[in-house]
Amino acid sequence: MSSLNAHTRPLILDGKAIGNQIQKEIKQQVDEFIFRTKRQPTLAVVLVGGDPASQVYVAHKEKGCAKVGLASQRHFLPEATTTGELLALVQQLNADPAVTGILVQLPLPKQIDGTAVLDAIDWRKDVDAFHPTNVGLLSQGRPRFLPCTPFGILQVLYRSGIKVAGKRVVVIGRSDIVGKPIAAMLVQRTGPFGPDFANATVTICHSQTPQLEEVTRSGDILIAAIGQPKFVTAEMVKPGAVVIDVGINRLESGLVGDVDYDGLLPTVSAITPVPGGIGPLTVTMLLHNTLLAARLQWGE
Ligand code: NAD
Repeated sequence: MSSLNAHTRPLILDGKAIGNQIQKEIKQQVDEFIFRTKRQPTLAVVLVGGDPASQVYVAHKEKGCAKVGLASQRHFLPEATTTGELLALVQQLNADPAVTGILVQLPLPKQIDGTAVLDAIDWRKDVDAFHPTNVGLLSQGRPRFLPCTPFGILQVLYRSGIKVAGKRVVVIGRSDIVGKPIAAMLVQRTGPFGPDFANATVTICHSQTPQLEEVTRSGDILIAAIGQPKFVTAEMVKPGAVVIDVGINRLESGLVGDVDYDGLLPTVSAITPVPGGIGPLTVTMLLHNTLLAARLQWGE
């Protein structure tokens, strides 16, 4: 990929196809696991309230489980649920040996202490990798679970042959879900795909970064996780850069990402579309983590 030429057609990174391929591989691994252990890993999906986007995400997760042969349980609680009630459910799921993964869909209603809830999940069942133990292990370069969206980004880069070692990576956004963990993964000496897909020089930008455009233009790889439609314009991108658009913004015209996709096409060497880029990988890596959690708990 070092010979990427800004003047040829950019490579469109097809997350949907990559996600489907990984799901096929996971299905085979799940089948083998169930054959050997005679037990089916189970993901408990917890949704509090009726947020429409969350309902869609939860449905995708349940469908994904069924597709690869994992079981799922749904626990839908009313909008007015208290922190205590949700913690009681989490404790019940922690104690249930049949439940191997627990996912609490975010965002939670305002009255709930989300940090207390995420902290309460047994870290061995923490398939989102938001528990401080899993975040700490990742930060130290010895992760058990990798958070789903950043893991999806790494899969897209790996399966598209885009090495990150020695590159300058700029991440826009410092969330605990995307920005911080993808930076933590790429800066390590090695990772799930070896040293070529780690060892980057990483810069994190955020809402208080001065001269943002100057920084983003230094990125050989630019990762946008901002939550603002078409925020990243061609002037903000180094010619020939690889652009990963994590954003999902719902406009009346449909879903758009955080980058101006059409505006960037003539400039970049590779880019993820929205939809069909990183989105499909998030569910896929959740399925991967659910199988991994079962292996951890059942001693496989
Ligand atoms: P967030 O709101 O938690 O964080 C957004 C970040 O963007 C913040 O750190 C903020 O500092 C930064 N930011 C905001 N305005 C900025 C500005 N003007 N200049 C520079 N930085 C700015 O968001 P998040 O949870 O990381 O999500 C980001 C986007 O990714 C959203 O569109 C979300 O829907 C999407 N997302 C997609 C997936 C997926 O599966 N593809 C998963 C998670 C999030």
